[in-house]
Amino acid sequence: MSPRVPTEPNQEEQRLLAAWRTFFEANCKADFAALASTEDSVWGFEIQWEQLEKHEDLGLAFMSNMSTCLASGTIVLEEQFSLHNLSPRPVIRVLGFSELNRYHIADLRMRDRTRFLRFDAVVHSTSRAMGWLKRAAYACRECKHEWVEHEQLARARKKLETCPMCLKNAIAILDAGGKREDLPDPRNFSMDLERNYYEDVQYMELFDPTSLQSDDLPEDVPTIMAILSEEYVNQFQPGQCLTVNATVGIDHLPSRDYIRDTRRILRLDVHSIEEGFSLHED
Ligand SMILES: [Zn+2]
Repeated sequence: MSPRVPTEPNQEEQRLLAAWRTFFEANCKADFAALASTEDSVWGFEIQWEQLEKHEDLGLAFMSNMSTCLASGTIVLEEQFSLHNLSPRPVIRVLGFSELNRYHIADLRMRDRTRFLRFDAVVHSTSRAMGWLKRAAYACRECKHEWVEHEQLARARKKLETCPMCLKNAIAILDAGGKREDLPDPRNFSMDLERNYYEDVQYMELFDPTSLQSDDLPEDVPTIMAILSEEYVNQFQPGQCLTVNATVGIDHLPSRDYIRDTRRILRLDVHSIEEGFSLHED
């Protein structure tokens, strides 16, 4: 087996890929045609929840396992972009979620972590744009295997000791009666900087619209940190009113001074943003 061949999608992934294919075919033909002239390098491809929800089981898949659902959708969307000769890299942004997902920033507590919710929010401040190593690429000098490790934002990069293919080969060689001296050195690999994938991100502090008393930004207001990626970076300004669709995550205290500090804060991992409030009056 060639080391570059990715593993075959399992049954659930195949079902998702098929559902996304018919979804884009049925709903997005005009979007692809209209996109022909864009020169952006990343394109947020907007999909209405109402359409997604009623197409096969895509709505259910999105709500129960968002990352798998979006990964399959992105594979199909990239195929479509390539078929239509569109140069940007597409990112799926689902918008217009039901009011059943409605929540208030001020009400968020630890028990809400992992929930996917919809908030009205005002931008308090934004950080500078940053990049992070989302996928680290490695190449083995012994067996020429190339692979990718998915990293986590603001966590230590995975520590790799051995090439997985060399290890697999070593077991097969030993099983076939080979000697230890014949084995390749599984530590003879390195990071392939050219194939590393960096994603643009930005931190944005948001607050609940109920704290908005006048036209001025309140000075002292509780905020929650939201993480934006890709085409959303550097798009929003303090004072802007938004509808934010996000998964509630947890993070370390930004000011922690010892490494095993158990205190955590909530943060919003933003999936999509709509301009203006959807519940409060602007
Ligand atoms: Zn190897």
